[in-house]
Amino acid sequence: MPELPEVETVRRTLAPALGARVVEVSHSGKPLHGRRPVPIAAIRAALVGREVTALRRLGKYLLVDVDGPTSLLVHLGMSGRFRLFAPGTPAPPHTHLTARLDDGRELRFSDPRRFGQLDVVAREAPRAHPALAGLGPDALVDGLSPAHLLACARGRTTTVKALLLDQRVVAGVGNIYASEALWRAKVRPTRRANRLTEAEARLLARAVRDVLVHALRHGGTSLRDFVDADGREGENAHYLKVYDRQGEPCPRCRASVVRKVIQGRATYFCPTCQLR
Ligand SMILES: [Zn+2]
Repeated sequence: MPELPEVETVRRTLAPALGARVVEVSHSGKPLHGRRPVPIAAIRAALVGREVTALRRLGKYLLVDVDGPTSLLVHLGMSGRFRLFAPGTPAPPHTHLTARLDDGRELRFSDPRRFGQLDVVAREAPRAHPALAGLGPDALVDGLSPAHLLACARGRTTTVKALLLDQRVVAGVGNIYASEALWRAKVRPTRRANRLTEAEARLLARAVRDVLVHALRHGGTSLRDFVDADGREGENAHYLKVYDRQGEPCPRCRASVVRKVIQGRATYFCPTCQLR
């Protein structure tokens, strides 16, 4: 599932769409995101005849701003791809939304598994949208402060990993980077959140930032479906320390990396050196 570095990579690689005008929007007619219908009339009204003026990201959500009051909201879900195509390029399978631009290029959203989301938001008040209303600080733009992490951890009996995955605590971290950050900070994923010390919160907050910055530098992690707006895979999978590496030696201590399902999510960690 695309997380902050992947969505940010898509945002950056979509930049050549800036300044182009949307002339037509078409839709597959299929529902997305929990079988909810795509609000295609609202999307058309927001985009058609408008110029793309900015591309923003809030956590794992992407916003396409135009010179009008309403923006397009995009969530890639599990397998969503949001790409910019040269004129005349055939559409990939499972294309659900196509926005044709005035120079013939097309912005296309494809999503075989259809967990993605397309909606409209008020450009000046995106957080009025229910999906964005509860989002915590963006892990990269706002940063995750140790004090905020500690305040959120207090009184919570959930695991530290679940705390990192909670988008109300910090927006943008998902399953891959939670495992990676916990490894980097040497914190056991099953550690109870309310037992986190100030020193550990400091290490963990820094680790979250470091793994995201590192992944972004390598164009994100492509394990299954992720590609950027030009169709290129990210290189970060080569640099993962524990995620998807069960049975392989821990890069720090050489013990075997363990995979364990915690609260329904696959979690990877080193049982020997993640002792905090
Ligand atoms: Zn280790």
